[in-house]
Amino acid sequence: MNISILGSTGSIGTQSLQVVDDLKGIKDINVVAITGNSNISLLEMQARRYSPQMVVVADESKYTDIKTRLNDTDIEVLCGEEGLCAAATAKDTDMVLSSIVGFAGLVPTMKAIEAGKAIALANKETLVTAGSIFMEAIKKNDVPLIPVDSEHSAIFQSLQGGKKGELRKILLTASGGPFFGKSREDLQNIKKEQALKHPNWSMGAKITIDSATLMNKGLEVIEAKWLFGVELSDIEVVVHRESIIHSMVEFCDKSIIAQLSLPSMKHPIQYAFTYPDRLLSPDESVDFPTLGSMTFAKPDEETFRCLALAKNAGEMGGIMPTVLNAANEVAVAKFLKDEITFLEIPEIVEKAMSDYKNNLNPTLLDIIEVDREIRNKG
Ligand code: NAD
Ligand code: MG
Repeated sequence: MNISILGSTGSIGTQSLQVVDDLKGIKDINVVAITGNSNISLLEMQARRYSPQMVVVADESKYTDIKTRLNDTDIEVLCGEEGLCAAATAKDTDMVLSSIVGFAGLVPTMKAIEAGKAIALANKETLVTAGSIFMEAIKKNDVPLIPVDSEHSAIFQSLQGGKKGELRKILLTASGGPFFGKSREDLQNIKKEQALKHPNWSMGAKITIDSATLMNKGLEVIEAKWLFGVELSDIEVVVHRESIIHSMVEFCDKSIIAQLSLPSMKHPIQYAFTYPDRLLSPDESVDFPTLGSMTFAKPDEETFRCLALAKNAGEMGGIMPTVLNAANEVAVAKFLKDEITFLEIPEIVEKAMSDYKNNLNPTLLDIIEVDREIRNKG
């Protein structure tokens, strides 16, 4: 199989290359294209190790640097959104791993779909902002779509335990993040260093903050709605602190099928690469006696308002999830620069949502326009 990895220098991207290594001799995967944004040394290292045909740096100001570094190779070096789209549609590519963070992943992923590539989807923001257009394109181009987000991979796997039409509801698990059980008062003086310490997962900065605010779970509810064609009211978020059950589905006979494994993104990445097969993994097994117990709770949507805001945006549909997502990306970037407090993140998102009149049938251009508008406002 030949793959392009959009966002190869990120948390998902680097783990996906580890999976490529793990699968050597079991299922050989040829890396056709890799893309990064700012970490040029890592991009160069990956290029030398995996010898792709194409290397793309999204940040155009870094083009000369990476081009010069790879001068002694015959790798094609490109930059900008055009470059990302070239990586997404490279002739020899069978599957595109969409693992750029945020809205920047949308256009290249759409191009990959239009070029008929199978999609392994980590980037949830694409489905949140353009779910309807995205799913239509998947259908029209008849391309496989395999979720990489751990909860959605778990749902995808669990759904194989029943037939379409037998599903009653999705139980989307949430770790609760680093601030589970805290009150609004406790959250007032949270520093970014505390928010960046996730109890179970090591991830990129943006999604780690989203996990602390529970926005991540809200985005995942919208992601699940599009991926599995269900109503938002058919998705229940359950806090499960241990992150062993990655999600569950309940069928009409009230049987629940779940997918369990230790919290490692290599699991859903490998499954996306090997689906419909299951192949050997070097990962550790869950040891139940050591684990001892698993706990479950209701999420606190009053303290962690981002979850409620995302559900609202999802219910409203149209352009609202784009507004929510863009305002959240702006707010998280500000929080990471110590420009706003933790509790201001939901305030910024809510204000953006109340400032916008909904457009129920946005085109891709409308979505790009509104996203840009909100970013420009800062
Ligand atoms: P990350 O920040 O670690 O990596 C992001 C990647 O995107 C990097 O390769 C970076 O170079 C690239 N990038 C950043 N800004 C860009 C831009 N403007 N244009 C083009 N490329 C750009 O992020 P991550 O944690 O790997 O997350 C990637 C995506 O996967 C996100 O959408 C996230 O929600 C999703 N996801 C991540 C995890 C996880 O465990 N990390 C789990 C589930 C889903
Ligand atoms: Mg997830």
